[in-house]
This record gives sequence, C-alpha cells and structure tokens, in this order.
Amino acid sequence: MCSRGPRRLVQCPSSRLSQAVFSRESDDTMAEGTDTRTQGGSPGPGASKEPAAGRIFSGMQPSGEAHLGNYLGALRQWVRLQDEHECFFCIVDQHALTGDFHPETLPTRVFDLAVSFLAVGLDPERSTIFVQSDVPEHTELTWLFNAVTPVGDLERMTQYKDKSARLESIPAGLLNYPILQSADILLYRAELVPVGEDQVQHLELAREVARRWNHRFGEVFPEPRPILSTAGRILGLDGGAKMSKSMDNTVRILAEPEEIWERVRTAVTDPQRVRRNDPGRPEVCNVFTLHGHLTDPVLLPDIEDQCRAGTRGCVDCKRILADSIGEHFLEVRERAAELKANPQRVREILEAGAVRARKEAERTMTQVRERMGLTWRSGVHAG
Ligand code: SF4
Repeated sequence: MCSRGPRRLVQCPSSRLSQAVFSRESDDTMAEGTDTRTQGGSPGPGASKEPAAGRIFSGMQPSGEAHLGNYLGALRQWVRLQDEHECFFCIVDQHALTGDFHPETLPTRVFDLAVSFLAVGLDPERSTIFVQSDVPEHTELTWLFNAVTPVGDLERMTQYKDKSARLESIPAGLLNYPILQSADILLYRAELVPVGEDQVQHLELAREVARRWNHRFGEVFPEPRPILSTAGRILGLDGGAKMSKSMDNTVRILAEPEEIWERVRTAVTDPQRVRRNDPGRPEVCNVFTLHGHLTDPVLLPDIEDQCRAGTRGCVDCKRILADSIGEHFLEVRERAAELKANPQRVREILEAGAVRARKEAERTMTQVRERMGLTWRSGVHAG
C-alpha cells in the first residue's frame, strides 16, 4: 500500500490546483475551464457558479497521461466540482474503440490517465473513479437506448459528419457513439455534465434520449444539464487547433522542466512580431492566453505591457510560461511518481470505484429492465 493514500492525494494539492466529459480522445473533454455556467434549466445560461447540488458524470478517453488541454479544459474543474457534488469520473475505454487504438497499449493508457486523475487531485474518497469497461451496464443500456433513438438524430451529429466524411468505411460504433455517451450519463441518473462547447450537441441528444425513453416507459431518467465553460477552447502550441495529442501540440502535465521548455519554446506567437523589439499583440497570442491560466496573476500586467512595447522578446516570455507550468505541476509530478511506484494502489482505487459504479448502475438497470419488459420469468405461469 502506498504510504500516501488517496486522502493524502487531495490534501496536498497546491493552492492553484485547488482552484482548479467527453470525447473521442482524452483530448476532447466534456468540461472546459474554471468558470462555468449551466444550460437547459436553472440557474440557466450566464450563471457563473455551478448549482450546489446534483450528481455529476463526466468521462475522458484514455489517451495516456493528461496534457495541459485536459487539465485546463476539464480536470481542474472536476477537482473543484468534488467539493459540492457527488461525482462519477469515468475513463471511457469503450469509446476509444471507435477510433484508432491498439489493444496492446490500451491498458497502459488507462493506467496513465488514472494516475493523472489522482495526481491532480481527484479524490477516490469523495468521487467514484472507475473504468467504463468494468461496468457492463454501459453497453447494455446503450443497446436499450438504440430502441428509442432515430438514426436520423445520430446522422445529424456534427462530430459524426466530420469524422465519417474522412472515412471510406464508417464503423457503426462511430454513429452510435453518442448513444453510448447517453448511456454513460443516464446510467448514473446524473443531473449535470461538465462539457466543452463541442459536446453540447451530444448532451442535447442525451436529454432527448431521456425524454423519449421516459415518455414511453415511465419516468426514470433526469434530463442532464451541461455545466459549460466560459474559458473557451484551449488551443495547442500551434496556436490554431485545439490542444490534442493527435495534433502533437500539447505539453504533458507530468513533463519535467526540461521537456516543458523544449515544448513551450516551439509555441506559435503573434505572427506580426518578427524582430525582438517589434510591438506585440498579446490578445492574439496563445502564449499569453496560457499565461493567463498558469502564471502568477501579479506578473501578467508586466508581461502584457512589455509585449506591447516590444521590450521583452518572445523567447523570454515563453521561458516565464515554461517556468510557470513546471512550478504549477510540481506537486502533481511528485504525487504521480508515488502512484507509478505503487501501481497496485491505483488498481485498488479503480476497482473500488467500479464496485460503487456497478451498484449504482444495477439500481438503474433493475428499473429499466422491468419497464422494458425484460422480465420473462414473470410471464411463466405454474402449470
Ligand atoms: S511577448 Fe509573449 S505575449 Fe507577446 S507575442 Fe511574444 S510570446 Fe506572445
């Protein structure tokens, strides 16, 4: 057993960490940013705080160790949500099967993401942290939701249209992906789901699935509402695309300072700054945006002023950012190292989470099977 167990993991986050889904990869997350608002019910769009109650579900695909985009877009928000909500955080490995994946590396990717979850401060004492494939009811409910979901609803999903347009042969799983997402959420009768803007359409489908199913079989599922980010998309080091492993524009949150610098020094800045003393435009520079998330706020006015005046070069500016990242994740790296040295502890946490998740899933499925008539024994009468 690790001498620093799960409780310890949460007690020791840095003050910034304590400030502190869903996706094709863990690169695409359901939650983004620190300031959030809800849609689809009170307190409604524009509200600046999460409601103080309500069960939360969010998931992330196992693409290995988390990167800055995962952290800024989702994980730091999840850490905070634990304070006021009952949370289910899931590593959605079955979703990963609809994209490029390798059976031989998938288990390691699950483990590495679990380490990142725990290292940033997700607390297995307060939240249910588990792996999707450990709870077979996810796929069972997916099949049952197929019965109430029109194909047309799936075909109009923007993400499906984008991805399928690039494929010669479209796997059925790609089309049905949002039904599995709906099942993930509704299996736990979650009321709130942290999502990025790109997942709002899928969550709307989950609400529609809940409505249709309830209408036909009786009220079981709440209609889940999104907790939306006001932080916007976290762009990668290229400054153009969303930060994602597949775009190779990320910084690993567990990277050592040398690696962080090697990555950050390549970041794209204001293209109009050709010479060191050219005046810059921080508002168009993603390095400055990342400063806003990770650098001591006291330093930001100077960074901005010196950029505009052309008195600080971009290399120096990136160096400050790299140092900020290194410092921000210092304790996270330490906790991750402890967990990696004790993989059995990680396994125990995920297994305990799966036990809790299965119990809750079974509670839902007992009702669902009854309402849908999957109770053949009640039709067998004594002769
Ligand atoms: S000085 Fe900093 S904020 Fe300004 S353009 Fe360069 S990297 Fe961006």
